[in-house]
Amino acid sequence: MSIEVHQITKHYADQKALNNISFKIDKGEIVGFLGPNGAGKSTMMKILTTYIDATEGEAKVADFDVQKDALEVQKRVGYLPEHNPLYLDMYVKEYLAFNADVYKIGKARIEEVIALTGLTPEAHKKIGQLSKGFRQRVGLANALLHNPEVLILDEPTTGLDPNQLADIRQLIKSLGKEKTIFLSTHIMQEVEAICDRVIIINKGEIVADKKLTDLKADQEQIVEVEFDYRVENILLNRLKHVQNVKNTHDFIYELTFSTKEDMRPMVFDFAHDNGLKILQLNQKNKNLESLFREMTM
Ligand code: ADP
Ligand code: MG
Repeated sequence: MSIEVHQITKHYADQKALNNISFKIDKGEIVGFLGPNGAGKSTMMKILTTYIDATEGEAKVADFDVQKDALEVQKRVGYLPEHNPLYLDMYVKEYLAFNADVYKIGKARIEEVIALTGLTPEAHKKIGQLSKGFRQRVGLANALLHNPEVLILDEPTTGLDPNQLADIRQLIKSLGKEKTIFLSTHIMQEVEAICDRVIIINKGEIVADKKLTDLKADQEQIVEVEFDYRVENILLNRLKHVQNVKNTHDFIYELTFSTKEDMRPMVFDFAHDNGLKILQLNQKNKNLESLFREMTM
């Protein structure tokens, strides 16, 4: 197991930031930790990276206890903090070399992480000259220096423009082929783009922990159909698996089905049997973003 969290609670003075949290992450998984601001994501990540201690409960990273074996955990985890402190006056290589020295890592590894994170064309520049996207790459390169088996990335794409966002997501995905990745975000699309699984946290509590494939399958199916003529709702309500019928516009109907089986062929047959013509037929899934909003209200 790469990460094991067992009944973790964290208080800051009289505020409870995490309330009895438990989850496990297998080797090789890319898991999104999704929640609105203030949900407790960074707090959980700081506990896993040994920066702060939990008030109650235990956590292990790469089978080592974060409190009892903090040094062993640090050797195996790479961390990109939310507000990554970079020295803007330092050159990329200088910065990486400085950190490599601290951790007694050979010079060859610096070139490796530069190549791995796509920093090569910018490697001779000062960090202050780099775009936000490239600064994040420097942060990732830094987190990768000691070749950790687990990567913990706190909002790695916040503040990036759409191109940088796509590039960094791509990079994280490719790193995920070799490593276990636990990344936080407040955007559902991010999870859809990168992760195999999502753990949703709200007000210090876990409200969902699901594989993305299951999350998609769980959802109801909505079929939007336009007939060439008005149809009585009562007739549409007789369709198999239909949960709800809504006449949204003229002869356009939104049909909600309680199954993931594609209902379009059946709607097509229905039209045929009733002497109707179909002008358009679309399958719409309730998007994951709205699901997230419901869970974190
Ligand atoms: P997230 O990363 O999901 O936005 P955080 O873990 O940063 O959430 O914060 C969770 C809650 O704990 C918030 O209400 C925040 O204000 C509070 N909090 C975080 N760090 C501290 C701290 N050092 N002292 C007091 N309260 C804190
Ligand atoms: Mg945070």
